[in-house]
Amino acid sequence: MKVVLENLTRVFPNRTKGGEDVVAVNNFSFEIPDGKLVGLLGPSGCGKSTTLYMICGLQKPSGGKIYFGEDDVTDLPPEHRGVGLVFQNYALYPHMTVKQNIMYPLQNLKGEDKLTKDEMLKRTVEVAKLVQIDNLLDRKPSELSGGQQQRVAIARALVKMPRVLLLDEPLSNLDARLRLQTREEIRRIQQETGITTIFVTHDQEEAMSISDMIVVMKLGVVQQIGKPQNVYDDPANLFVAKFLGTPPINVFEGEIRGGMLFIGDDPVLAVGKPDRKVVVGIRPEGFILDERGPMHCKIKGVEVMGRDVSVVATNEASLNPVVRSIISAESKVDVAAESVRYSIKPHKLFLFDPETEERIPFEV
Ligand code: ADP
Ligand code: MG
Repeated sequence: MKVVLENLTRVFPNRTKGGEDVVAVNNFSFEIPDGKLVGLLGPSGCGKSTTLYMICGLQKPSGGKIYFGEDDVTDLPPEHRGVGLVFQNYALYPHMTVKQNIMYPLQNLKGEDKLTKDEMLKRTVEVAKLVQIDNLLDRKPSELSGGQQQRVAIARALVKMPRVLLLDEPLSNLDARLRLQTREEIRRIQQETGITTIFVTHDQEEAMSISDMIVVMKLGVVQQIGKPQNVYDDPANLFVAKFLGTPPINVFEGEIRGGMLFIGDDPVLAVGKPDRKVVVGIRPEGFILDERGPMHCKIKGVEVMGRDVSVVATNEASLNPVVRSIISAESKVDVAAESVRYSIKPHKLFLFDPETEERIPFEV
């Protein structure tokens, strides 16, 4: 089932006198393709949850429309939308067993949807198997680990066979290892069931690793939509470039003079653009150690990361406290040396307008 958002907007009126209204979601249009997993990504407060709540019907849009397939569901109450919702805090019923928790949504089905006890049990065991907790059905939530509790919450969302699955920061309460494992589980379940899924997170790595497409939001406004790799390789603006990638992109003040991009006094790259000031972003993997490279930095230290090393350095034109490059652990870095020289991979360098922060395209 595809989900279509058309100019979706949500305004929260301000309660203090003279204050401005909060536009939590501003004119969001997007067609989520059938059977895909879309990651909704952005910093805290950018409107991710509000978007999700409008899709599931818990909140009413101030403007715009929502369609599931061809059906306009904008004014449909949540229980008639056929959505499964999973929150960050699993919200399980503590006095019920796992089995009762999962079965609960089925007991409220009415009319022709009503199921017999046997049918309910069969469905419950099926989804419990799918999320691999069928051996825990008689336990209470307090007798489960965080990851197991989250699986119960996912099973409960899936048991009614929703048309759309909505997950709001579902992994935030799990420790690092479990988070990794559970996100792979979610991906597997999503692919096995083929349910159109929207996954909300502020964690770029999480969104990038499991999504077919990501939507990057800032202050209620969609910044960019695309396949994770494409958004990383081709960010629309400085915000998107900074939000994706660990370690984050390095940002410098730069200037184009005579078609050459300068960072400080270093002629870094021929970009063939008119003279102007720019903001330069260079991905950490965009630096090549090169004795004759054009870019100079002062070495601060080297951080070992196993397969790679991260060279931490400074540069006067840098807008961040340090410049981080990622290079292969086999390369020899002379930490005793005062400075390090780099050449730059052109496709790992981006130019932005200092005022608008929009990307300035160039050809090399
Ligand atoms: P996110 O999930 O991305 O962290 P939210 O969608 O929860 O962000 O919130 C988006 C913006 O809307 C924030 O500025 C938040 O303070 C505001 N907001 C959310 N819910 C309400 C509400 N019920 N009343 C007023 N403002 C709200
Ligand atoms: Mg939220």
